Amino acid sequence: MKMSKLEYHLFPYLADNYGVLVHSPQTGETVCIDCGETQAYLDALATKNWKLSEIWVTHHHWDHTDGVVELKEKTGAKVIGPRDQSKPIKGLDVLLSEGDGYRFAGYDVEILHTPGHTLDMLNFYLPEEKVIFTGDTLFSLGCGRIFEGTQPMMWESLSKLARLPAEAIVYSAHEYTIANADFALTIDPENKALALRVEEIKKLRAKNLPTVPSTIGLELETNPFLRSGSVDIRKSLGMLDASDAEVFAEIRTKKDRF
Ligand code: ZN
Ligand code: FE
Repeated sequence: MKMSKLEYHLFPYLADNYGVLVHSPQTGETVCIDCGETQAYLDALATKNWKLSEIWVTHHHWDHTDGVVELKEKTGAKVIGPRDQSKPIKGLDVLLSEGDGYRFAGYDVEILHTPGHTLDMLNFYLPEEKVIFTGDTLFSLGCGRIFEGTQPMMWESLSKLARLPAEAIVYSAHEYTIANADFALTIDPENKALALRVEEIKKLRAKNLPTVPSTIGLELETNPFLRSGSVDIRKSLGMLDASDAEVFAEIRTKKDRF
């Protein structure tokens, strides 16, 4: 029997976070990604008339976890998160590390460890759907600020995501795209795909529409943090002979000061 596709519902919460609900019409199960604010998630569930079965936590930061315990109490959902936490995350029922097998509603879930922003960051990939939840590792036109890891570690994590299929859909956890676009244009000004994308992003944001999700392919073409191989970028940074990791580190340092 062919599985029906999963359904996705993206919604904003707090100042600039995105939550996502993923629902199987076949089994009736629903998972949400993170929960920094209980009410926003309850509202989203009510809008879709879906019942929550699981919460997948990407990392320990408060804007991803503050609502988890209350949401769990109100819905009975099972909470899945990183085994190795940088700071204890309350309410976890299932602890996962990279390579652990996990399934949701009959679908495989691949657990990717993408440290850098935090050491405990997990990304959740649905290979049959080609959908990845990147938390605060990869953003539309950006990447997470490096708080706990190192620049080489973050490069390694982003490289892992870059190896996913180009058509893979990227749900990231923040609407930072306008600021990311302003910075990207300073690093990669000759990139026509970037210029086009920035125009589209401005149109979307003018209507208060999300710039998430994106795709791995689009990020590879336009996101400077995945483009340290680009000769144009290397030339403008004076880093033609540097390693990809070194070029990434320079771009990340420039963004920190931008
Ligand atoms: Zn974070
Ligand atoms: Fe965050």
